[in-house]
Amino acid sequence: MRFATYKYDGRTYAGVTIDHRYYSFGDLLGDGAPETVLDFLQQYENKPLPDFLSIISGKCVPAIPEEAVKLCAPIPDPFRSVFCVGKNYADHAQEAVRTGLVASKGPVIPEIPLFFAKYVSVATGDQDVISLHSHITKKVDYEVELGVVIGKTIKCVKPEQVPDAVFGYTIVNDVTARDAQTAYGQFFFGKSFDGFCPMGPVIVTKDELPSPGNLNVSCRVNGETRQFSNTSRLVFDIPRLVSELSQGITLCPGDIIATGTPGGIGHAMDPPVYFKKGDKVECEVEGIGVLTNTFE
Ligand code: MG
Repeated sequence: MRFATYKYDGRTYAGVTIDHRYYSFGDLLGDGAPETVLDFLQQYENKPLPDFLSIISGKCVPAIPEEAVKLCAPIPDPFRSVFCVGKNYADHAQEAVRTGLVASKGPVIPEIPLFFAKYVSVATGDQDVISLHSHITKKVDYEVELGVVIGKTIKCVKPEQVPDAVFGYTIVNDVTARDAQTAYGQFFFGKSFDGFCPMGPVIVTKDELPSPGNLNVSCRVNGETRQFSNTSRLVFDIPRLVSELSQGITLCPGDIIATGTPGGIGHAMDPPVYFKKGDKVECEVEGIGVLTNTFE
């Protein structure tokens, strides 16, 4: 099942999308229905998911056609930062060290996950325009990443317990101001500018993506492929990342973990290339879709 947040006729709705049609939780589930995807995750943390297909076939549920909706990020307002992982593909670890994005001391390929936080006030939706923040940065860059959406409250879980705690998957573009990433001596600021967390277009539940450790991941800028890899190349796989985070931090329904980006960032090109006004970026993860944004 594919979960979405969308605007239609001046209001924002959360619900599911099937065959290019959108169905709101309110119309599907009636009184007490969750109003947001985050509400849904919390309400259904310990319950089986509703059988939306049966509900739709069994009663007359209004279906909004794709052309009539404007997508938002599936979780537009994460209740805390997005968890991120640095240097989690070997080719990106090498380019990050080579170009000075991370300290060159220590092993190039990390021996434990390099966690950091990306502050998100409002996540950017598919097709939204992102500000280049040109008064403070000249080096805005992309990072396509598979995002893991947690569905259960977990603490100190083993890697083999992680699949049960995952709700589904989405795409995150970890947009980064490279000059701010290096100038301020940490990742937080340059990755947290307003609009720098495009997410979506939807969340796909785990039953529809049975092999999250083998998904093609790619990024195109103005149609040119810049990143292409597969989640089988993650240095630390999803069970390891989530298990390790949970040793210190209680993870909750709606938490999002961006699993790292493969090699091919604009900053590491020769010469480096950054976003300019009018550029279009498309982040794609197999089985989820394409997350498209432009810059101004
Ligand atoms: Mg990243």
